[in-house]
Amino acid sequence: MNDVIVGRFAPSPSGYMHMGNLLAMLLAWLDCRAAGGRMIFRMEDLDPVRTQEQYARALAEDLRWLGLDWDGGYPDRAYCQSARTALYERAFRTLEEQGLVYPCWCSRAQRLAAAAAPHPGEAVHDSGCRCRYLTAAERAARLASDRPPAWKVRLPDETVTVLDGHYGPYTQNLAREGGDFILRRADGIYAYQLAVSVDDMSMGVTRVVRGRDLLSSAPGQTWLIRALGGTPPSYCHLPLLTAEQGKLSKRLGSRSTQALRWEMTARELTGQLAYIAGLLPAPEPVTPAELIPLFDWNKVPTQDIPIQM
Ligand code: GLU
Repeated sequence: MNDVIVGRFAPSPSGYMHMGNLLAMLLAWLDCRAAGGRMIFRMEDLDPVRTQEQYARALAEDLRWLGLDWDGGYPDRAYCQSARTALYERAFRTLEEQGLVYPCWCSRAQRLAAAAAPHPGEAVHDSGCRCRYLTAAERAARLASDRPPAWKVRLPDETVTVLDGHYGPYTQNLAREGGDFILRRADGIYAYQLAVSVDDMSMGVTRVVRGRDLLSSAPGQTWLIRALGGTPPSYCHLPLLTAEQGKLSKRLGSRSTQALRWEMTARELTGQLAYIAGLLPAPEPVTPAELIPLFDWNKVPTQDIPIQM
């Protein structure tokens, strides 16, 4: 039996990190290290169009600069989603054998977006999609055409409750509220929901800490991991950083780490993040390691955090 906590950083190298990403990375690291856990660093570089190696390198550099370390991960290719297609393929086949997969010819935009995690206001699924209900004959006729389909998961009419470590119980009816999501895009790229579930499962992740924009994805991921024979991790979501109007602050909030690094030291930036997260009474310079004894989810707000500095 191995009951060591395994946490993860799982950024997408589609741009430089900003304050919101950094806060998520810091809290994921503190949550893991305060429990004596192992931290892994997975690069979510599934989408060859949206992701770039230059951003992947910058993400790693920013984490190191800030003082956040990890025990296994990037640049080891075993931790890069772009090199893990064989695992996703195997999981896809396992679901297919259980009759849980069907082809979908709807909405090109959504099928293309599916490699990235959904962000606030973005639907995980295509609510107008009727592809699930096609007859076998209709399906066969469409499959014979030259337009390749995306492949979706057939979710059951089942209610799943995830006990979030910060927001408490979160309940969702998979079929009616979550909705069937894309497993593989029409261009053959495996989608975010499948990849993240397979990776969390196969990398032995026991604890997921990330922004609350992904809370609504947790029940579907929990179900998927169980359908693949795995044990789902526990989840702890954190509030998002917003400006007063609910948009990300144009001043501090939207600036990339690359820009912030010109303006402050790593200790100053960590102090700002710790202050925003309720871990320090004032934004004093500090290292992530010095925050470990102060870390407590009860201090972290659940409301989204407006920032203007
Ligand atoms: N790679 C995703 C993102 O950067 C996060 C995925 C996750 O934490 O589940 O938005």
